Formats: sequence, structure tokens, C-alpha cells
Amino acid sequence: SRNTPVVGRFAPSPTGPLHVGSLVAALGSYLLAKHSGGKWLIRMEDLDLPRVVPGIADDMLRTLESLGFQWDGEIWYQSRRNEIYRAAVEELSRKGFAYPCGCTRAEIARIASAPHEDGLVYPGLCRGGLAPGKVPRALRLLVPDEIVTFRDQIMGNYSQHLGAACGDFVIQRADGPYAYHLAVVIDDALSGVNQIVRGADLLSSTPRQIHLQGLLGHATPVYAHLPLVTGAEGGKLSKRDNSVSLSEGRDLSRAGGQLLCAALNFLGQQPPTEISNAPASEILAWGVQYLDVSAIPADSGPFTL
Ligand code: GLU
Repeated sequence: SRNTPVVGRFAPSPTGPLHVGSLVAALGSYLLAKHSGGKWLIRMEDLDLPRVVPGIADDMLRTLESLGFQWDGEIWYQSRRNEIYRAAVEELSRKGFAYPCGCTRAEIARIASAPHEDGLVYPGLCRGGLAPGKVPRALRLLVPDEIVTFRDQIMGNYSQHLGAACGDFVIQRADGPYAYHLAVVIDDALSGVNQIVRGADLLSSTPRQIHLQGLLGHATPVYAHLPLVTGAEGGKLSKRDNSVSLSEGRDLSRAGGQLLCAALNFLGQQPPTEISNAPASEILAWGVQYLDVSAIPADSGPFTL
């Protein structure tokens, strides 16, 4: 409702140092939460353990701190929350919303319709039970023949037919790990997040997450997907241009303010030139005070310092 305080969050995956794209996500989520006097949480999405780089989570946090970001409450680590995910998966299975799938990637590739933006559309082969001789490889969520529609604060209306776009999707692999879509929905709900601001690369994941929210009885948050950062010619950013991390030798005590000014400009905000040499914390405070959400562009583009 109108009087509910905003709770936003930044949910990086600690698989590499903070980069320009994650800085934009951190800044965007921080500004939208703090501009309306809300809270801003940080959650480490370290479920995909083989890809998690030791020490990176702390490096990200120190980098954010030296840019003046202050988070509210304890930081959640998904790697410590397996019991919570297990209970949700059990509930979904018990209610008949999930089923074991024994198909290998190669089998799916052979039978799937054309690959979709998010991978192969699973044609539901194991819906009726595992064929003899097949062993469970994953637990899939049964998606209905329905279109999910939501209104994104930046990207506008977005619709997706779950069956055509992704098919029954994996919520847990048989060898243990819970899927991102499941964990993100549970953690946002249980930490009271009601505003999700993140990169537009996750726009097409949102309908799956909204569907899961419905099955688990959670409210759907407000969404704002931010434009993506590209290289100068619209291509990929080079590794060097992309890094903003302290550990990669950035001197944020001097350059942090300029970095934040550049990120504000990228988000369509125009900090006055007089403050461009101010410390990071002052630039951040300017952004919180003068944020204009309607000026955030939907189109991706280069990030210029
Ligand atoms: N951990 C995800 C990433 O780094 C973001 C998840 C989210 O914001 O929902 O891409």
C-alpha cells in the first residue's frame, strides 16, 4: 500500500570483482530505495559455489563502502540458506507443482523447439513420470499455459508466455544446488523486499519469478529494470574498462566521486558540474535527494567516465 516503506536490495553474485554493470545496479537500487526513505539490503547470491571466487564478496563490500554505500541490516548469504529452499521445494512438490526430470542436455537439445533467449525450451517430456531406466537429474516446475504480464517502472509493460518462452524450468538439480529463480523469490519475500531494481538482463526472468511468487503465496514486488552497460561501439566492455574494484587497483578515495557521477549520468541523472570533484559520499547523497526515475533511459548504452 501507499504507506508501506520501500525495501530495496542489491543482490550480486560474488563470481568476480564489482564491475561497471554491478555498480549501476547497486546505485540504481540504492537511489530508488533511499529516495523514498526506504531500506536497502545486500544479499550475496553465492549458491553457484563452483563459480564463487573466495574473498570476492568481501572485496565487493569494501568497494561499496568506499563509494559511500551503507546497507541496512545483516547481509544474507544464499549458501547458508539451503534449509529454507529445501522446505519450499518440498511444498511445491507436495502440491504437485514440481516433478523430477531425467532428460540430459543432449536429449533436450535434440527434441527442444528452437532455442530461446534463455536457453532451450523444455518440452515437458517427463511430465507424466520418468520413463523406465531414467534417473532424476533435476526437479522442474510445471508451468501453466499462461501469459504473465507486469509493468516495469522503466521498461514499461512486459508479457511472456511461460510455456513458449522457457517451458517447465529447473528449480533444483538432482546433485543438490537450488536454482537462482527459486532462491531469489524466496529471499526477496522473506527479507521483506518490495522493490526490485536490477539489470535488464533479468527482465525476461521476471515472469518466471512472478509465477513462483504466486505458487508460494508471496506478494509481487515493484520492478525496475535498468539499462545495460555496453562497450563504446555497443559491443562488450573490455575487462579493464569494466572493473571498478578496489582490488583491481582503482583508487576510489579520489576517483570514487567521478565514478559515481558517471554512473548517475548513465542513469540519466545530471549532477551539477560544481560537485563533480566532491567525495563519493556527497555525490551519492545528491543522487538520493534529486533522483528523477522518469529520466532513467530504457536503452542500453556505453558508460563514459
Ligand atoms: N545475482 C544476480 C546477478 O548478479 C542478480 C539477481 C537479482 O538482482 O535478482 O546477476
